[in-house]
Amino acid sequence: MATDKIAVTCTRCRTRFREKVGRLRDGYQGQCPNCGCFINFTNESMDPAVRKAMTEARRIRNGFVFQAPKE
Ligand SMILES: [Zn+2]
Repeated sequence: MATDKIAVTCTRCRTRFREKVGRLRDGYQGQCPNCGCFINFTNESMDPAVRKAMTEARRIRNGFVFQAPKE
């Protein structure tokens, strides 16, 4: 099962859709497939669902895609 996509929730209509982890970087602007509104993916987003998606994406990139060196 591929883990390169995570579920994100639209800020406006609350539709859940899947976005590629590689795109979910700070400043990325995604578009909701349901209502067509743009969603700003930033770590300082007002929407907790967006921040959660950013955290999840970072975790997957660090833990699963790339083997991050131990600190
Ligand atoms: Zn929407």
